Amino acid sequence: MLITGGAGYIGSTAVEIMRSTGYEITVFDDCSTGHADSVPAQVRFVQGSLLNVAEIADALIDVDAVLHFAGKSLVGESVENPALYQRVNVDGTRNLLDEMHRANVKKLVFSSSAATYGQPQEIPIKESAETVPTNPYGATKLAIDQMIATEAKMLNLSAISLRYFNVAGALNCQRGWLAERHNPETHLIPNVLRSSTDNPVRIFGTDWQTPDGTCIRDYVHVVDLIDAHIKAVESLSSSGHEIFNLGSGDGFSVREVIAAAEKATGHKIPTIDSPRRAGDPAVLIADISKARQVLKWTPTFGIEAMVADTLASF
Ligand code: UDP
Repeated sequence: MLITGGAGYIGSTAVEIMRSTGYEITVFDDCSTGHADSVPAQVRFVQGSLLNVAEIADALIDVDAVLHFAGKSLVGESVENPALYQRVNVDGTRNLLDEMHRANVKKLVFSSSAATYGQPQEIPIKESAETVPTNPYGATKLAIDQMIATEAKMLNLSAISLRYFNVAGALNCQRGWLAERHNPETHLIPNVLRSSTDNPVRIFGTDWQTPDGTCIRDYVHVVDLIDAHIKAVESLSSSGHEIFNLGSGDGFSVREVIAAAEKATGHKIPTIDSPRRAGDPAVLIADISKARQVLKWTPTFGIEAMVADTLASF
């Protein structure tokens, strides 16, 4: 199994869980945002770029399936530098698909995103919802989903795109905690837990059309997310492309996440009301019935565990 982006937050969690359940893993990562020290010594590690076909070909040696986590994933950065997102995400995945075809690797699970849907017309969001991304990040994930669908039709690829909502939490393993190590950190839960009176967490918008005025998101624990990947890759047999939403099916406002963090830490979290962040929709909640029914997947961790595990990982 090749895990691209296996040195990153979600990819390294996949490596750990799959390695410990007996999968033979190769990791491919350029370490632009991932960390080489997250890759365990027991797995083959090809440090390389999706923009270098020879490095991809090397990584694909003796591989029968690919979990493709590698990519740029920040909405704000994508607005500032759309070309970077086009190059790494779209062109990089084009290279990966070409090299998979050359190496006769026919199974792919891709990390897509709820950002492909843009401003939803209906909540919860089904896989059949309209896809009108509101930022370049979402547009690149959608372009890749479409590229994979074509590849499945034309070249007998067997593929699944998993559309993540908000991934959170951490995994405690023998090596210690595998957790978010982004720099700068933009994600809500780590930022809330690191908030201090000198540097209070910013609440991006308090005038949204939601019950408490703050954005609502659907948080899913990274361990549940990886469980869905294993079920997805194990389900691949005949050629075709399927899309599944991965969330918990429940929404939490920014203020509700802060309240959960206050409960976990036992102290008041300093906050500062701030303007809305560009590209943010008000509410994103997944309809996960397709993943439940087809993949037989059930998320098991709630927001309390996501907050508690993130806190424990510090
Ligand atoms: N958010 C916030 N303050 C922060 C980080 C995030 O208010 O420091 C809000 C953000 O506007 C969004 C939600 O928290 O409504 C989740 O944002 P995050 O960046 O964690 O994930 P995204 O939804 O962008 O994937």
